[in-house]
Amino acid sequence: MPIYEYRCDGCNLKSSVLWRSYTPPDAIECKGCGGGDTHRVISSVALHKTMGTKLSELDSRYDKMLDAADAGNPRADPNYYLSKATPLSEGVPD
Ligand SMILES: [Zn+2]
Repeated sequence: MPIYEYRCDGCNLKSSVLWRSYTPPDAIECKGCGGGDTHRVISSVALHKTMGTKLSELDSRYDKMLDAADAGNPRADPNYYLSKATPLSEGVPD
């Protein structure tokens, strides 16, 4: 069931209506002023992107900014955490 949007020619309010048919009505009653002088308008659409797409579209300068922010920070290196880890085999009796 599509949602159609209408704009009132009297008060300029935009109203939406869920219509149980793919044939939209020519006009609806305005929810603001109750007038019937409305016309259908083209609705905006939402575009959903995956996280991968969003990340791939990021400006490359952000990568450089992150690298610059992490420069000199030993905790930015994954090997830092590996050096702090204790192997699970330690402390296990033979
Ligand atoms: Zn109106």
